[in-house]
Amino acid sequence: MNYVIIGSGVAGIAAIEAIRSVDKAGKVVMIGDDPHGFYSRPGLAYYLTGELHDKALFPRTSEDLRRLNFQYVRARVSRILQDQHALEFTSDQAPLVYDRLLIAVGAQAIPLEVPGANLEGVLKLDHMEDAKRILKLARRGKTAVVVGGGITALELVEGLVSRKLKVHYLLRGDRYWSNVLDEQESHIVEQRLQEEGVKLHHHSEVIEVTGKNGRVNGLRLLNGQTLKCDLVAYAIGIRPQVRLAKEAGLAIDRGILVNEYLQTNDPDIFAAGDVAQVYDPRSGRSVLDSLWGPARQQGYAAGLNMAGKPFAYIKTVPFNVTRLAGLTTTIIGTVGRGRDEDLVGIARGDSETWRQLPECMIAQTGEVNRVRLLVGEKTLLGAIVIGDQKLSYPLEKIISENVDISPIREKLLIPNAKIGDIVAGFWAEARIKR
Ligand SMILES: Cc1cc2nc3c(=O)[nH]c(=O)nc-3n(C[C@H](O)[C@H](O)[C@H](O)COP(=O)(O)OP(=O)(O)OC[C@H]3O[C@@H](n4cnc5c(N)ncnc54)[C@H](O)[C@@H]3O)c2cc1C
Repeated sequence: MNYVIIGSGVAGIAAIEAIRSVDKAGKVVMIGDDPHGFYSRPGLAYYLTGELHDKALFPRTSEDLRRLNFQYVRARVSRILQDQHALEFTSDQAPLVYDRLLIAVGAQAIPLEVPGANLEGVLKLDHMEDAKRILKLARRGKTAVVVGGGITALELVEGLVSRKLKVHYLLRGDRYWSNVLDEQESHIVEQRLQEEGVKLHHHSEVIEVTGKNGRVNGLRLLNGQTLKCDLVAYAIGIRPQVRLAKEAGLAIDRGILVNEYLQTNDPDIFAAGDVAQVYDPRSGRSVLDSLWGPARQQGYAAGLNMAGKPFAYIKTVPFNVTRLAGLTTTIIGTVGRGRDEDLVGIARGDSETWRQLPECMIAQTGEVNRVRLLVGEKTLLGAIVIGDQKLSYPLEKIISENVDISPIREKLLIPNAKIGDIVAGFWAEARIKR
């Protein structure tokens, strides 16, 4: 069997690991256009702040990769020739044939579409090369403006603050990440940013990036205000890279549509990771995630199926542990809804499932350490845990395993209930019974 994988991210690597667990002899070729190969993209945030060296971002040693026994081709695929089971490249390489193909090309930042967006100093954060460029320009800059929402915008803010730049953070709406966080949570994050010296501008929309000699020197806002700055970093959402699939005539919606075997409408072509739009049995819809864990699980499942070992990927409750303005934050299940004016599409480290919020009650507690629960008829549908993380593991289990919370539901809904204590007690008892 001749396996070809496009994309050297976590979905692609996991697929090779799965293929090799079934088929030791088949030929495996991975094609990737990133000069750094496989590394941790979530880790780029910590690289920007200086907490991690770039060498710490590589989860596999070269020995690990060698053991997987695959050929790595550094190139960019330009076309999938479905009828011929072959790929073409942007370089003048000969076409490469496949028996089974995995498309794991990820997603990319939605561009900032205003005049001046092509000036040097207008930056996004998709790849390690982007992070290196940000650090290089931050070294000679004094003032930065960050535009956008979600986790990546905040990572850009934090990275630039830690590099001692004066940072202006522009929000089109009236609060940070309004379709995932509630008002109090946005307030906690914004207050901490202000304490770090970040200047927040609500209801602010950039209409032009201005420059001199090809380099950024400022911004014009819709309200007529101007800001001087040396760099502009944006994170207004990401888009799955569906072009190859679309041109090959594969079924796409917002991402490449796949069944539970990660198979596209061509049985020899699979898709996994940020580029795939995967069926969610809980909602009955196909949704996008931009999460490391699901990308790895999908890649692994796709690899098993490609190697002829049927394995259904059942989408689990989306879960992310991240850091918002220095506070560890766990987001589980459905937690918010509506539109966030600062994001044009799904953000990095985000899941569409988080916003499929049915009518349900909300119980909440605390100030900086905060737990918010989305309470369904018999189960918990979602949770956000900010700060103290004692409850994040129990809540992840209670939500993902659909644990019946009838014994505590009424207690949770009493105004000002100590929901942390109630959940902790319930979890301790549930564990004893198991
Ligand atoms: C800054 C940042 C912060 C993040 N934070 C979090 C977080 O907190 N939590 C979390 O769970 N997730 C987070 N993510 C998201 C997570 O990293 C992704 O979900 C995951 O990396 C997706 O893996 P993938 O294999 O699908 O795609 P990718 O990792 O994007 O890999 C795709 C690869 O394909 C290559 N490629 C694309 N087109 C072609 C082509 N035509 N030919 C050849 N190669 C091609 C790309 O260059 C890339 O190397 C973050 C991502 C970023 C960038």
